[in-house]
This record gives sequence, structure tokens and C-alpha cells, in this order.
Amino acid sequence: MQLNPNFANLSQSYLFTDIARRVAAYKEEHPNADIIRLGIGDVTRPLAKPVADALCAAGAEMADAATFMGYGPEHGYPFLREAIANYYKTKHGVTLSPDEIFVSDGAKSDCGNILELFTADNTALIPDPVYPAYVDANVMDGRRIEYVSGTRENGFLPAPPEGQKADIIYLCSPNNPTGAAYTKKQLAAWIRYAYSSGAVILFDAAYECFVSDKDVPHSVYEVEGAKECVVEICSLSKTAGFTGLRCGYTVVPKGLRPAGEDLRGMWSRRQQAKFNEVPYVVQRAAEAVFTPEGLKASFENVDYYKKNAAVIAKALDKAGVWYSGGVNSPYLWLACPGNLTSWDFFDKLLAEAGVVGTPGSGFGKNGEGYFRLTGFGDAARTEEAAQRLTAFLKKL
Ligand code: PLP
Repeated sequence: MQLNPNFANLSQSYLFTDIARRVAAYKEEHPNADIIRLGIGDVTRPLAKPVADALCAAGAEMADAATFMGYGPEHGYPFLREAIANYYKTKHGVTLSPDEIFVSDGAKSDCGNILELFTADNTALIPDPVYPAYVDANVMDGRRIEYVSGTRENGFLPAPPEGQKADIIYLCSPNNPTGAAYTKKQLAAWIRYAYSSGAVILFDAAYECFVSDKDVPHSVYEVEGAKECVVEICSLSKTAGFTGLRCGYTVVPKGLRPAGEDLRGMWSRRQQAKFNEVPYVVQRAAEAVFTPEGLKASFENVDYYKKNAAVIAKALDKAGVWYSGGVNSPYLWLACPGNLTSWDFFDKLLAEAGVVGTPGSGFGKNGEGYFRLTGFGDAARTEEAAQRLTAFLKKL
């Protein structure tokens, strides 16, 4: 018996445990402290009513012998795959065939599972700082990782490293943790680079619903050539509050044939073997998200988070603090003033303002000296936190 030795190479992720521990210690010393959490990466608003109604109606169907549903069709019910294809057409101007869309239990799983289509001797190119799941999944496979640096100078939107070889490329736009979002022109450069290297881009569009700038695409397929070299992985977690329900989708276009292979066919086969679909009730709720009423009501929640992000952005603008994000994203990524490290800033902000955020160093080497705040909280509490932030930054 031999266990996977690559697990020994995983970094122990203490970020959120460390945060919880430091906040608990602070609370013990200051039991009356009124702490506001602006570090939340989860949604807080309830499901939109049309979505909740569809979920309940599907639940009732399951309780009736005449309408009960067992195993669903592999890759998702046609009603949902068609609803997603229609969303791409009407909202993004992108034509997809429903059989290029694979319903999933969320973006995190597919960002890792898709790697089964590639051998471990490929090189993965991953931006730093980044959502840690990409790194972990590649480390578990023992794959070589090269990093492209996000920095203040490039607005945390690294350009392709021309001349350097890559096989699998992760891009996340709008980005977690930096909130930065690539324009069509910037993505076109990545697509040219991937195409000429024979690489596949795994494009994480989990935050597409936050995009409001005209030149920032919601889907990578709005950019020419993307269907030949990009897999798009998306999620209803942030679009419609499905972090607890679990539903997403992965798009593998038919024209995507790295090394002449049919990647869509391979993904279809992998899912047949290892995935038994998302619950019927969840797929019905997801279908309701893509109705006009469902989209309208779900985007009211997205706007709520965006307003919170704008409130925080205003406080940072007032204090003259550099940051990225906050426009096409619920995330704000600020440069810690006074050359403080990410954790020093965390401690100071907690002690002097009672506000909790996320140290940027937890997202990669280039995150040191940066700090993530989010718009996922309650609006009144976010206003209060912004006032405290303003007073705190004035004193720094
Ligand atoms: N991708 C990014 C960039 C994320 O930030 C997150 C969650 O925070 C996910 C994927 C996870 O999405 P899901 O809930 O669909 O698994």
C-alpha cells in the first residue's frame, strides 16, 4: 500500500482558523467589543422568492408518487442546460449548445476535477495571489506549478508570460481575492498565448454576476477564439445564493480539441463515471434563477452586495488608500498603509476599529502587505464598519 505522497506537499491552510482564533482571543479580552465582520466570503442574503418557490414546489413533487424523481439524466436535466444556454445567448450574446454545458455541484469541485483530463506531467500556470483551491488540486496531483505575479503595478491582472511554456492555465475574473477583472482586450492576449502554446485555460467565472463595466466580459466566450482553448467554470453560489444548495456548471465547447482530443467527450465520460448529478429540487431552483423574475430578484441581492462594496470603496478613496476591486466584484483588495504586513494590519484593524477582514498573505506570496474586505455583509453594519474604517485610517 502506498498513499499519495503529494499530500505532504500541501500547505496547511490555517488562514480562516487563525482568523477565528485571533477574533476569539480578542473577544475573550474584550467581551463587550462590537465586532463587524467584513471578511465574509459567503453570501448572507436569502434565496430570491421565485427561486425558493421553485425549490419548494420541486420538494412537493418529490413527495408524490406521480411526480417523484429518482436519478436524473447525466450532465443535468435538459430544462436547466437549456435555461443556461439561453442565459448565455440573451445576457452575454454567446451561443452554446446545451450539450456543451455540464451541470455541476459548484465551481470548486470542477476546478479540481477537470484536472483528471490532463496528465500530471503538464505544467499548470496559476496567478498569485489566487483562490487557493487551484493550487491545492494541482499539488495533490503532483503537477508542476508556475506562478504569474499579480502586483500593484499590473493592477493584480498579470499578463501572459510570453515565451514561457504552459499547459493548463487558471484565470479567475472577476478575481477572488483581488476583485480585479480582465477586459476583453486583456483576455484576448491570454487566448492568443494559450492557443499558440497549445494550452487550455480553465476560466473561473464564479463572480461574473458582479460585472458592470462594459469592456469586462461576463463570459470568456465573448472574446474571439475562446471556444478553441477555454473551459469556463461557473457557479450559482454568488449569482443566486446557492453556496448552501450547491449548483454550478462547466462549459466545454465542442471546438476545444487540445492535442487533437475531444475534451468535451472526455469530460462527459469522466462525469458519467464519477458524478451522479445535482438533486432534482436544486436543478429546479436553478432553472428558476434563469427566468426573468428569478434573474431580477437574484440580481437585487447582487446589487445589495455591490452597494456594500461601494460604501467600503468610498471610505478607502477618502483615506487615499490604494485598492483594486469593488466595482465588478464584491471584493476590495487594499494595500496596507504604513508598510504593515497583512497580519499586523489585521490585528490593528481589529483592536482599533473592531473590524475583521482577511489578510492577503493567505492567498499567496504576492498577497503579503494586502488585505481583503468584502461586500457580503449586512448593509447597515457595512456602513458602520466604513465609518470606523475612515476614522482608523485617518489615525494610521
Ligand atoms: N471560485 C472562486 C474564485 C471562489 O471564490 C469560490 C468561492 O468562494 C468558488 C469558486 C467556489 O464556488 P462554488 O461554491 O460554486 O463551489
